[in-house]
This record gives sequence, structure tokens and C-alpha cells, in this order.
Amino acid sequence: METKQEIRHHISPALLTAYAAGTLPEAFSLVVAAHLSMCDACRAEAESLDGVGGVLMDDLAGVGMEASALDAVMARIEAAPADAPAERAPIRVSGGVLPGPVRDYIGGDLEAVKWKSVGMGVKQAVLKTSDKASARLLYIPAGAAMPEHSHRGMELTLVLSGAFEDESDRFGPGDVEIADDEVDHTPVADVGADCICLAATEGKLRFKSWLPRLAQPFVGI
Ligand SMILES: [Zn+2]
Repeated sequence: METKQEIRHHISPALLTAYAAGTLPEAFSLVVAAHLSMCDACRAEAESLDGVGGVLMDDLAGVGMEASALDAVMARIEAAPADAPAERAPIRVSGGVLPGPVRDYIGGDLEAVKWKSVGMGVKQAVLKTSDKASARLLYIPAGAAMPEHSHRGMELTLVLSGAFEDESDRFGPGDVEIADDEVDHTPVADVGADCICLAATEGKLRFKSWLPRLAQPFVGI
């Protein structure tokens, strides 16, 4: 186990609000829940958002909200994914390498993960979530780079153990990198330790160059 380090990269307020409202796709909700289980500051923030939401609804009910306003709220709620409540992964603080919310998906801690190689020692395990977004565990050997990849929209990457660095900054346990599709980044794991991350992307994640890289060992023989 690693000693607890200061978390420097947090979930953005907009993401926290969406999480509290239950409107995030399952994959992103899982990353937020996992971060909250590791980050006292964001957990307190999320809990206060929950409180604010409840108070607001009480106030609205108390002043006799107009039917049209209520309809609008209900329409928004219904417009949210039908499985929204289930998509809001519960926050649970726990020991082990994998945060509680992730372990629920794996059915155990790290030893239960069914890794698949994507080349150059990098492995992934795709988690079963609704297909509006995808979530995966990534294993990057110490000092190795994540294969070049592309995705549409936002990508959230939460470090579970080890650390990685990319062009923008360094990310350690509990840190979240929020990248959009314009960021062309190449995370590289610290030389000191293997890096295990939880990543969520909109749409499918595609490794651009894993085929040639995967072929390299055979070429070298
Ligand atoms: Zn945080």
C-alpha cells in the first residue's frame, strides 16, 4: 500500500454537480465515485451538493411550484438516462488497491481483474457499463508509455496506484486528469512503479498504433 499523498487534481465542479444530479453516464459516474472514495475534499463537496439539491426541492415544493415548472423539472429528470439512479455508483471508502466502487464491478480487488494486453506491456480490462461511455482499468508498466490512442469527447483518467506524467502535468494516486478530444496526450508511467488507472471515455477508445507495436516482438525474433 502506498502512503496517502496529497491529491492535486480534482473532479471539476461541473462534473460533481452532474454526478450529484445523477445525469452522468455510468462510466463517468464510476470514475467520480472512485475519486470521491479517495478524496475527502471532493466527498465533502459532493455531500454538500446533495444537501443543496434536497433543500432546493423542499423549498420549491413548499411554495407551491407552478405545474409547468414541475413539468419542466420532471421532463429533465425523465430525459436523463432511464438507468440514472443505478448509474450513480455509491461512494464507499475502503482499503486495497481498487476503490470500493471499482471493486463492485470487478468482483474483487486487483487479483480478480481479467487483463487483456494492448501491446508493449500495457494491459486493459474493460468494465461492463452502459454503452453511452466506456470505462476501463489500465495497467502501464513502470516507465512505459500508454499506446497512442484516440477517442471522441471527454476522457477522465483517475490514478489508482503509481503515477503518470504527460505533457501537461504529473498525476499520482487519487489525481484525475480531465482531457477532451483536442488534447493529444501520451501518459508515461513513472519509472519507479507500475501505474494502474481507471479511465472513462465517451464513445469507444481506439488504440491508434497497437497493431504495429504488438507486431514488434515477432519482428524482433
Ligand atoms: Zn478531489
